[in-house]
Amino acid sequence: MVCIKQVPATTAEKRYTADLRLDRAAAEAVINPLDEYAIEQALRLQESGAVESVGFLSMGPEQAAEALRRALAMGGDDATLVTDPALAGADAWATARVLAAALDRLAPDVALMGMASDDARGSLVPGAVAAMRQVPLLSYGSELRIEGSSARVRRLTADGFDIVEAPLPVVASVTDQVGEPRYASLKGIMAAKRKPMETWSLADIGLSADDLHGSALTRVVETRKPEPKPPTERVENVGADEAVTRIADWLAARKLI
Ligand SMILES: Cc1cc2nc3c(=O)[nH]c(=O)nc-3n(C[C@H](O)[C@H](O)[C@H](O)COP(=O)(O)OP(=O)(O)OC[C@H]3O[C@@H](n4cnc5c(N)ncnc54)[C@H](O)[C@@H]3O)c2cc1C
Repeated sequence: MVCIKQVPATTAEKRYTADLRLDRAAAEAVINPLDEYAIEQALRLQESGAVESVGFLSMGPEQAAEALRRALAMGGDDATLVTDPALAGADAWATARVLAAALDRLAPDVALMGMASDDARGSLVPGAVAAMRQVPLLSYGSELRIEGSSARVRRLTADGFDIVEAPLPVVASVTDQVGEPRYASLKGIMAAKRKPMETWSLADIGLSADDLHGSALTRVVETRKPEPKPPTERVENVGADEAVTRIADWLAARKLI
């Protein structure tokens, strides 16, 4: 089961609602870029015969169904969306709690995730889900393998790589080293329309808003745009001597030399 998050497009302008939540409806939404690598890894395992079925799971607003359809257009068999008004503004703890409960119901051998979301970049959810489900975590794999009743990741390190193995079921996360994600073909896009997708509420996974402390243990108290940088000055289309002089003058004016 590949967990994918729908996020605002990287280039989209991020806007916040009056209560300081990311206004997800205001921006073009995409599959979290790092989750596309997790999708690719899962589909390669299915093509190699190491896994029988590949499904997708997302927690988000109803529009997150679009991200699941795009994943199904790349491949895989089915998808599940957990959506509930009580989940608006869910923080990483609440997200992990919901995904853990949904995965307990889906009971995959592998719950596969990307290494981070593009909007919050917390990288907390995989570890939190593994802890809540009391299953091993194989994180930051540059390759995931399933051998018999075990899973194994190869993780790049500063001076080489680790091979980490654990008995199934596991939670695993992979990096962008697993291989370039495939593009959805027209045939894939058409087939995705017919693939099963279920929509679950909190009650369907045995949770209530109270279980989630109202959806967050944390709250955003302020958002602020970064200070505008001073205008950039370009030195171009001049001779070397003039370029050196102008750069030296610029540095001297700022007491940098
Ligand atoms: C700008 C910003 C800042 C935030 N800061 C915080 C904060 O400081 N603390 C906090 O608790 N929350 C924070 N949040 C909320 C947090 O983004 C969400 O709770 C989110 O769903 C989970 O955390 P993450 O994005 O860091 O996920 P990560 O832990 O970075 O995600 C790792 C992987 O988990 C899976 N995953 C994550 N979310 C989902 C999902 N909704 N559905 C399916 N799979 C998923 C994906 O495979 C993803 O690649 C912030 C949100 C934003 C937009």
